[in-house]
Amino acid sequence: MRKPTVMRPDLELRRFQEELEAERERLLNVERELAESSRQAKDSLESFSDADDVPADIAAQASEREKDQLYGQNVQQTLAQIQLALDRLDDGTFGICEMCGCEVPEARLERMPWVATCVECQRMLETG
Ligand SMILES: [Zn+2]
Repeated sequence: MRKPTVMRPDLELRRFQEELEAERERLLNVERELAESSRQAKDSLESFSDADDVPADIAAQASEREKDQLYGQNVQQTLAQIQLALDRLDDGTFGICEMCGCEVPEARLERMPWVATCVECQRMLETG
């Protein structure tokens, strides 16, 4: 098998890989905790047959749960991005902007090792 060309020999890829794997581990834990608290909240809601009988604190928990769900979606998105970043580490394109092909600044990668684009492309994506 041909060894892929590493496009960013200036970066300590090993260190980024470790950071990505540690962050993935952490987020998987967060995901498990969210799933557990969502299961508990569902159980306590379902113990009331009529929605009008739901006490305020249980209702408050339910709205907490919606926040958790949003947070959970973020976590899942980040996990997906981390997986893609690990794939890019494998094929040697880590640190290369997916959109314009330029080098993503190291400082940006240190803050968020899973980013796939440079700042300019990110801005374009966000503003449309
Ligand atoms: Zn770019």
